[in-house]
Amino acid sequence: MTLADALPAAADPPEALIGPNSVLQLEQALLEAGGPDLAWQVFDAAGYARLLEDRPSAMIDEAIPKALFDTLFRTLPARQARAVAERAGRLTGRYILEHRIPGFARLILKLLPARLAAPLLLKAIRQHAWTFAGSGQCSTGAGRSSHISIRRNPVAMPECVWHGRVLETLFQALVSPSTQITHTCCEHAGDDVCRFEIELAA
Ligand SMILES: [Zn+2]
Repeated sequence: MTLADALPAAADPPEALIGPNSVLQLEQALLEAGGPDLAWQVFDAAGYARLLEDRPSAMIDEAIPKALFDTLFRTLPARQARAVAERAGRLTGRYILEHRIPGFARLILKLLPARLAAPLLLKAIRQHAWTFAGSGQCSTGAGRSSHISIRRNPVAMPECVWHGRVLETLFQALVSPSTQITHTCCEHAGDDVCRFEIELAA
């Protein structure tokens, strides 16, 4: 049984949808940073205050987290915006760990040495990329220089800290606690792809 077999089949979602945690965990991170007022401030300025009352439970239009994160970085001080986006990424990674990676697959990955677990996790990430990359094209590379690339990243933001922390949380829990993710190319900064390099050990 391979990891891919153990994971739920990745149904083909309609174009341009993304997992609801991109919104739900942003709300949670804003609540932690500044309470309901801060969450309201950002969601309302983005035109999505209604989502604080009527929380999404299924895949959502990727334009929604795009607008929310754009508003976050536009309206909050840079350091605070970054901290909130990073926290939202870690919370999303934790949610994926707890709810989207079956216990059996989690166990296998943890038991394997990092160099064997990494390509399996990369494959699983590629197969489920629509949950965090929406309509973006996700590709991965394993080996000495493991990486994940997203072309036309629908939720690109300064240094893509949300994606970085989602990926780091998954790799640190399942492959190696010392994994570091660096964002070496970014569409938000004008590059033609968002690329995350994965360093498994210091
Ligand atoms: Zn980027």
